[in-house]
Amino acid sequence: MTENIILHVGIDDTDSNEGMCTTYLTHIIIKQLKEYGIVPTDYPRLIRLNPFARYKTRGNGALSFVLNLTSREDVEKVEKTVLENVESYSMFEGVNTNPGVVFYEGEITSQMRDYATGAIYNIYTIDYAEEFAKKVGMRIHKFKKGRGIIGAIAAISIQLDDETFECLAYRKPENYGTKRQLNQDSIYEMNDRTYPETFDNIDIEGNYTAIEPHTPCPVLYGIRGNTPEIVEKAHNIVESYEEIEDYCIFRTNQHTDMHIQENVPIKDMKDTSCYRIQCKVTENPHDIEGGHVFFKVSDGTGIIECAAFEPTKTFRNTVRKLRKNDEIILYGGLNDNHTFNIEKFELLNVAPQHKLLNPLCECGKRMKSAGKNKGFKCPKCGNKIRTSEKVKQFLPRDIKEGFYEVPTEARRHLSKPIVRMKQ
Ligand SMILES: [Zn+2]
Repeated sequence: MTENIILHVGIDDTDSNEGMCTTYLTHIIIKQLKEYGIVPTDYPRLIRLNPFARYKTRGNGALSFVLNLTSREDVEKVEKTVLENVESYSMFEGVNTNPGVVFYEGEITSQMRDYATGAIYNIYTIDYAEEFAKKVGMRIHKFKKGRGIIGAIAAISIQLDDETFECLAYRKPENYGTKRQLNQDSIYEMNDRTYPETFDNIDIEGNYTAIEPHTPCPVLYGIRGNTPEIVEKAHNIVESYEEIEDYCIFRTNQHTDMHIQENVPIKDMKDTSCYRIQCKVTENPHDIEGGHVFFKVSDGTGIIECAAFEPTKTFRNTVRKLRKNDEIILYGGLNDNHTFNIEKFELLNVAPQHKLLNPLCECGKRMKSAGKNKGFKCPKCGNKIRTSEKVKQFLPRDIKEGFYEVPTEARRHLSKPIVRMKQ
């Protein structure tokens, strides 16, 4: 008897700083399933969760894919294949590697979608995730602490209203840990031919390419773009001097600002959550030790300290130009010290800045104070005036209204680049 079974598979937390990559593991699993004639209905999904999650593996990405199956035997075959691969390839020795695998049959419910949004806005516990999975009838598999089930459930459940694609090229295992051998010129050429439909290929400072990771993982490079076609085209332009084992295209929530909550007043903002805040600068930026730039803003309900940290490099120069009363929209998140880490901002209104000076005399000379409350006196012609009121001299502002963002290298996976905001 033929059945019609929709099987969702979610996997997370199999990698560590020392190696592996859950995208690669997913790719291997899908390849193996294809050998059995079992093919996913769509691109696998790479889902980024709350950027402040404490125990996250490198990028905090969870994976999922969907299969249409026709028998219980196939369901069993798939589950066995997935679990065997997770067991053989996960970096179990990594302290923070706690893989989780989740299977779910049927349609995604609104309750599941809400869970997924919550996993991006908040930080869930393993217990909470486990309870949720059981409630909605998922089959979960925890390895070690099994923290990965938190993201695996979210990766299955999330609804993508906005999305991007990433083409990941993988290295031959014998090359893991060695310097990546790419023709750098070909990356510039790829960028010339596909930007802005692909983005974050070249660092904003323009000096180096940004598609290669800097870890010993299986990824040779990743190209991010708006459609599967454009990332594949870009992948075909990039020239590699080392053999590419294979590549895989993922549907993702990267670069969609999905982590950003809107319309939350400052007084209600929580640590380790991300927001869009329309506000005014209340304290001019100043540098602190370590190269970080701090300033304060208010939205009328509360004041919050904001930071452009050292890794945001040239972005700090822009932030330093902000002044009291500038109206801005900030995008970013509150860390666990209640400091708002800025990812980008829109300057809505540049507030005029002035300094107070003594008035000019009729003769053209700047007057001097004639003593407290005694007005001013001209040092040249002796002319006196009785008013003690100083005059405003407006200062030039070296910044214009518009959007400003951190450089590519400092960008969070979920953060929408300005080039996508204009589309
Ligand atoms: Zn004078």
